[in-house]
Amino acid sequence: MRIATSQTPSIPPQRSPPDTQKATRKSLALLAPMVAALALGACAANPRHHFDGIGALALVTQQLAFGPRPPGTDAAGATSSWIASTLEETGWKVEIQPVEYQGVVLRNIVGRLGTSEAGPILLATHYDTRPQADRDPVDSRAAVPGANDGASGVAVLLELARVLPARLAGHEVWLVFFDGEDSGGLDGWEWHAGASAFAAQLSVIPQAVVVVDMVGDADLRLPVERNSDPALVKEIWDVAERLGAGAFVQEPGSSIIDDHRPFVDRGIPAVLIIDLEYAYWHTTADTLDKVSAESLAQVGRVLEAWLLSRR
Ligand SMILES: [Zn+2]
Repeated sequence: MRIATSQTPSIPPQRSPPDTQKATRKSLALLAPMVAALALGACAANPRHHFDGIGALALVTQQLAFGPRPPGTDAAGATSSWIASTLEETGWKVEIQPVEYQGVVLRNIVGRLGTSEAGPILLATHYDTRPQADRDPVDSRAAVPGANDGASGVAVLLELARVLPARLAGHEVWLVFFDGEDSGGLDGWEWHAGASAFAAQLSVIPQAVVVVDMVGDADLRLPVERNSDPALVKEIWDVAERLGAGAFVQEPGSSIIDDHRPFVDRGIPAVLIIDLEYAYWHTTADTLDKVSAESLAQVGRVLEAWLLSRR
């Protein structure tokens, strides 16, 4: 993804300095027992029935074992097979959609569950990683490991895949894993190439699309992305407030080019949940130690509760 600077307002929102914000957030987190419960995925009787942050972090580790995952590489192929088999094991009907783009075969993966006359709710992310760490101060030609930028979103969706089937009666949910999001600006590639192809071929119109990207930062902060649907934003951020998920802050963030944009362009209500205040973005230091179970759990628990609230 990238920041669409041309659409960012000339007067920035009033904010305290980042250090102050982060210190305040940390002290708030200490005062919020609910956040601790969220973080631990606390359900001692049966942790599989609720989103588990530790389980999600393990899914990040599994992806990093494939190595960097740019489109068309063996690692991307292995990752797509692993995503598909993980979805099938948890009861989702899986389809892999190949799309040829710039001489490379992109593979979008869709897991479907349930039916609804109102149309499906899509939760989506990208699983590819950036082939070049072009913001790296030392080695800008190396590949990005993608612990946060790539693996975190996939981990949240696959952990949801484990916990949702037993609880989703009356809902239709698609979990969508896009390829080809993060090569934008390199070798003539656009951003969200996989999501654009997916949105263009949709024959069923979703009632809502929620994209998660870079949601594992241990110091997570999620302001409202400016192209996101205001009504959907209110629903999700209100759920976060009710759960004490303090990473979700109800203040305007940036305007960002990401996988939600092709849906916004089709008039489909869509939201992007992202933390772009990530110092290791598009560097070789986007590694496992920057990601926390607590952050993954906040996002996963909010999406779980929001989905179940949409009757
Ligand atoms: Zn990226």
